[in-house]
Amino acid sequence: MLTVEEARAAVLERVHPLGAERVALTGALGRVLAADVAAPYDNPPHDNSAMDGFAVRFADVAAATGESPATLPVIEDIPAGRVPEKRLEAGQASRIMTGAPIPDGCDTVIRVEDTRDHGDRVDVLVPEDEEGANIRRRGEDMREGEPLIRAGAELGPGEVGVLAAVQQSFVPVGRRPTVAVLSSGDELVEIDQVRGPGQIVNSNTPALGAVARSCGAEPVLLPTVADDEAAIRASVETALACDFVVSSGGVSVGEYDYVKKVLDDLGAEEVLWRVAMKPGKPLFFCMLKGKPYFGLPGNPVSSLISFLQFVGPAVRKAAGHPPERWPLPESTALMEHDVANDGDRRNFLRARLRLDGGGRLAASTSHRAQGSHILTSMLGANGIVVLEPDQTAAAGEPVTVQILGDIA
Ligand code: AMP
Ligand code: MG
Repeated sequence: MLTVEEARAAVLERVHPLGAERVALTGALGRVLAADVAAPYDNPPHDNSAMDGFAVRFADVAAATGESPATLPVIEDIPAGRVPEKRLEAGQASRIMTGAPIPDGCDTVIRVEDTRDHGDRVDVLVPEDEEGANIRRRGEDMREGEPLIRAGAELGPGEVGVLAAVQQSFVPVGRRPTVAVLSSGDELVEIDQVRGPGQIVNSNTPALGAVARSCGAEPVLLPTVADDEAAIRASVETALACDFVVSSGGVSVGEYDYVKKVLDDLGAEEVLWRVAMKPGKPLFFCMLKGKPYFGLPGNPVSSLISFLQFVGPAVRKAAGHPPERWPLPESTALMEHDVANDGDRRNFLRARLRLDGGGRLAASTSHRAQGSHILTSMLGANGIVVLEPDQTAAAGEPVTVQILGDIA
C-alpha cells in the first residue's frame, strides 16, 4: 500500500499544465495568470491632488494663520479629468479637485478645510507641514516596466483591479480543466428518480461535481450507470473527452465491480491501487488513452476525501498553479476534545475549524459520527484533522489540519 504522499506524487508526475487561453478580465476571478504582467506606463500618469483644495506655492503660505491668512488670487479651476491650462506663478492659487493634475509651478496643495473661499481669491488659514503636501506623485502606484503580477498568481479582486488599471481587458490564464464525473452501481437512482426497494440516491455525482468546481475545475456530470460492463464502457469512453475522468464506486473487490475490468480492456496503464488512508483506501489511478483516470471509492465520504487529496492537487497543477498550491493548505490547530487514531492508516477526520477566544485555530470533529458512509459528517466541514497511525491528541493539544474553507 502506498502512503498518501507517494500516491500523490505518482499522480502529479503524470499530470501536466493544460496551457493557456485568453479570457475576459471580468470573468477571470480565481483563474491562474499564465504570463508575467509588467506596468505599461506610470500610474498615476501625472502628479495629482490627493485632496479637494487649492494648488499653491508653499513659500507663499508658510506663514499663514487664522488671524493672518495668506490671501491669493484664484487663477483657474482644475476639476479631475482636465489638464491645467495656466502655470502657477508666485502669489497665485488654483482651485483643484482630488485626482486632478497638478499645474506647473505648484508645489503644495492646501486642503479646502484650511481655507476660506471668496471665489476670485482664497484665504489660506493653515499652511501644510511641508512643501509637497497632498500631492500624489506620478508613478507612485506603478512605474513603467515594473513587474506587477507573475505567471502562476491566482487572480483575486486586487489582481483584477491592477489588470484593469493597465487596460488588460483580456488576460492569458491557465485553461480550466474539465473533469468528467461518473458513478456506477445497480443500487443507484438519479437525484430526481423514484427510489425502489434497496435503492439509494446517487449523491456522489453532484457532490464530486461540486468539489471539482471548488478546486477550480469545470465538472461534466454523466448519467448514472448500472453495474454492467457495456454501459460502464460506453460511459468511460464518453468521459475521455474531458481532461480528467473521475468515477466513484465499482473499484473495490466486490463481485459486481466492473470498472477495473473495463479499464483493463480499454488498455489502461495502472499506476496505483490502494493508499494507506482512512477513509478512502481503495483508490485506483491509471492513465487511460493519455488521460488521468481516478477510480474513487463509492462511499460518499471516501470519494470526497480522496478527491480532495489527489484529484484537487492534479486539477490545480493542470490549471497552472505553482507547486506549493497543489495540496490543500495545512496548519496546526488545537483539538477541542480528545481524538485518537488506533488504526494503521492515516486518518482524515472531517472537522469544524474556528478561532477560539484567544485567536488560535481550534478543531472539533465531534459534530457527527465519522464513518465513511456518514455523509452528514461533511456538513459544515471547513477542515480535516489529519492523524497518523497510533497518534492521539488530548483536548488542547495541537494537531495537523487541512483547510477547506473560510474560518469564522
Ligand atoms: P462500491 O465502491 O461500489 O462498493 O460502493 C461502496 C458504498 O458506497 C456502497 O454502500 C454504495 O451504495 C455507496 N455508493 C456507491 N456509489 C455511490 C453514489 N454514487 N452515491 C452514493 N452512494 C454510493
Ligand atoms: Mg458498487
